[in-house]
Amino acid sequence: MSGKKESRKAIVIGAGLGGLAAALRLAAAGWKVAVFERADSPGGKMNRWEAGGFRFDTGPSLITMPWIFEDLFRAAGTRMRDHIEIQSVDPIAQYIFDDGTRFSHTADLPEWLKTVRELENGDASGFLNFMALGARLFELSRKTFFQRSPYEPPDANVLKSLRHLPLRFAWGNYDRTVRRFFRSPHLRQMFNRYITYVGSSPYRAPATLSVIPYVEYAYGGWHIKGGLYRLVEVLTELCGAAGVELFTGSPVASILRRNGRVCGVRLESGETRDANAVVMNGDASRTPALLGDTQARPVPEAKRSLSGLVFLFALRKPLPDQPHHTIHFSADYPDEFRQLFDERRFPDDPTVYVNLPSRTDRSMTPGEGEVMFVMANAPANDGDRWDDSAVAAARKRVMERLRKSGFADFEPDVLHSAVWTPRRLAERFDMPGGSIYGRVSHGWRGTFLRPPNRDRRVPGLYHVGGSTHPGGGTPTVLLSAAITCRLIDYYERR
Ligand SMILES: Cc1cc2nc3c(=O)[nH]c(=O)nc-3n(C[C@H](O)[C@H](O)[C@H](O)COP(=O)(O)OP(=O)(O)OC[C@H]3O[C@@H](n4cnc5c(N)ncnc54)[C@H](O)[C@@H]3O)c2cc1C
Repeated sequence: MSGKKESRKAIVIGAGLGGLAAALRLAAAGWKVAVFERADSPGGKMNRWEAGGFRFDTGPSLITMPWIFEDLFRAAGTRMRDHIEIQSVDPIAQYIFDDGTRFSHTADLPEWLKTVRELENGDASGFLNFMALGARLFELSRKTFFQRSPYEPPDANVLKSLRHLPLRFAWGNYDRTVRRFFRSPHLRQMFNRYITYVGSSPYRAPATLSVIPYVEYAYGGWHIKGGLYRLVEVLTELCGAAGVELFTGSPVASILRRNGRVCGVRLESGETRDANAVVMNGDASRTPALLGDTQARPVPEAKRSLSGLVFLFALRKPLPDQPHHTIHFSADYPDEFRQLFDERRFPDDPTVYVNLPSRTDRSMTPGEGEVMFVMANAPANDGDRWDDSAVAAARKRVMERLRKSGFADFEPDVLHSAVWTPRRLAERFDMPGGSIYGRVSHGWRGTFLRPPNRDRRVPGLYHVGGSTHPGGGTPTVLLSAAITCRLIDYYERR
């Protein structure tokens, strides 16, 4: 940026991961930045709950592509390793199936290939070919999708890269592609689950999302020592050091315009603040209402990504036989997704994810015991009230799945517990129905044409975070901050 950039003011609506990352990048580029967050703490979905010395992440539990996190620290003029310690999680996950089959995905490739051969009648070529497809899509994404907004004119490099798009398999349906590469019903179910990383159904998502499992297999999964919320704490500190003003408990009621251009915001308190650029980190579907469009409708339920039902348990006793992450699969995966997306209800037999970060990181407990995060997918409906009886009914199904896969009864050892329902997510962070990843990644449009990083109708207005391009999940949200800030640098240059 050039000229009198020091005097330029930017307002970021929301202190989620994308909002904090954008604020930090803008401050590093010379903007005077103020962040307004409606909740009483920063972090958005990446948040924390503490009880009796047990420390819980309430949202993300695994990060991938750590170099994207390093890039943010570099942009802020520092190094990630000077602030946070990331720990490799290996095995990344244990998988337990309804028929009793169980295996672990380990970073030890020969060991993992042995498991694949056992499941695939001695032949690992399907896995290797699926990874080869993922690798090509990943290289392509790095040059295109991860770098820039699809709404902006492509440059020559992008067009050159797109010529090499592996058309075969890439544009089909994800589940069909998985079935082409794998014969084992267990590997099919396991690879289909990766689409829930973007809150979508493997039966409706495009096969280009094969890039998601590839990233985990090629680059591993990571924990942040002290809990993933450490990242939010550190980014908040770095924002403070860079002169960013951060106000919590400060909902923005409207985005103000003068002569069609963004000129600031009005808070719910009535206070107004002026700005040359406004970056919306809240759900992009809320932007029209903030602009005063009274006709604006929320994203229809059918187009929302999944929400989640999360139980947090502080356990008196450790669970030394359990790994950090375990997936307890339902008996009938297509039926589970039918209930989630067609019937739009919590499944009868949910797939249950158990995360025990204290197996890797003892600093999350007061010494003894275990920190346990249990999650099942849920639809992002407006009408679901998630009252006590609905939570109790869902909890029974979750516990039944754990019992079926042999998880010992831990309920007598629960010292503290909390529950995050879709409704709680929706109300706290103003997310439609508690949808975690913005629009669902079903079909080509849903996946690639998300609400744009730069609002083309309202000059000076931008979006950042999981509801815009390139999508939800912590690394992609950080990529969105880089893309949005590059656009601000270009379009707001004076
Ligand atoms: C249970 C759960 C598990 C997850 N697991 C993983 C995982 O393992 N790995 C992974 O990578 N990702 C995971 N995610 C997804 C990840 O947490 C999100 O993609 C990411 O944190 C979203 O960041 P964001 O920038 O989009 O902002 P958000 O977190 O959506 O934050 C937006 C912020 O804007 C604020 N806001 C909204 N409207 C206003 C307004 N009008 N005024 C002021 N403030 C406003 C909200 O309160 C919120 O704080 C998970 C999420 C959840 C909930």
